[in-house]
Amino acid sequence: MKKRDLRFGKLVVDFANAQAAEEAGVAFIRGAAKAFGYGPEFLAKALERYPTLKRFEDALPADDRELVALLLEERRLLSLINNLPCNISLASYDYDGARSLLFKIQPIEPKWDCENPYQEDDVRIAVGAGGDAWIADVAGMFDDRAPLTEDMDEVKERLLGCMREYVALGDRILAIRRASPPEKTHEARKWAAYHSRIEAEQEVLAELLERWRATLGEIVEAGDLSRCQALVDLLAVYNVVNRRELAVGEDGVIYEMPLFPEGYFTERAGLADEYYHNVLVYALVEFLKVPGNRRTLRRCPRCEAFFIAGPARTKAKKCERCASVPPSRTS
Ligand SMILES: [Zn+2]
Repeated sequence: MKKRDLRFGKLVVDFANAQAAEEAGVAFIRGAAKAFGYGPEFLAKALERYPTLKRFEDALPADDRELVALLLEERRLLSLINNLPCNISLASYDYDGARSLLFKIQPIEPKWDCENPYQEDDVRIAVGAGGDAWIADVAGMFDDRAPLTEDMDEVKERLLGCMREYVALGDRILAIRRASPPEKTHEARKWAAYHSRIEAEQEVLAELLERWRATLGEIVEAGDLSRCQALVDLLAVYNVVNRRELAVGEDGVIYEMPLFPEGYFTERAGLADEYYHNVLVYALVEFLKVPGNRRTLRRCPRCEAFFIAGPARTKAKKCERCASVPPSRTS
């Protein structure tokens, strides 16, 4: 296919120029549809399946909203608690059962007489039916088991604050759960898990976006490509990804399987990081493989966007958008 290399280049450039994670994901799918020559039907299907927070908001049923919001808040608080700079983490809280908090505590000193010297200790604290006597127990556990340094006072305050919120949240979730059929709770849990999946995907994308901007920057600015470590690293990935496999069809004809068939983008499985990265690596190398293409890959000094200078703009330094803006009088 003619100009396929340019479409591969555009896929990578559009991805790297995206303002935010979600936009990068959409640019990725649009670019892939064009570069691999998949039709409009594919694009519609792939975009429809692409998880975005907007799609989540639109699809979430009204009567699930309150419980889903509480479940997400519960996840957020749990992650906050377990990311405190501290040796204590919260493993579980069965607010509709025995109402006890299960903490895991990493030993401050390895226990060399044990089979696993780093084995965590379990500490259970009963929340009980009412009152907040339990919070004094959590504070006591902290005083006994956390390292004794001044900085830990602040950590303790934050832990106790989060724990109060967390236990109160459990009561609110329980009240809603008791007032609605069990399948509603099940449904809300699925929605909350879906939301977390989208967030996790966007974190991966944001990280990839940073990485790809740095990589493209290095390749654009490299004087001697043979010494450009970023490119050498990409080629190593390319050589692993670019494995041609043969298969035999129902008609007995042996054919080469496509590297990234349509299903790769619509029925996607596996790690989000590799899902994007492998295609981007493949696309960039396919673009750079064509002699002369590397010279056309540039970065705009004004807005820092990457662009591929077309045949009509072989000397262009700025991207098309900036080139059309007259220079500011004040500068
Ligand atoms: Zn620009």
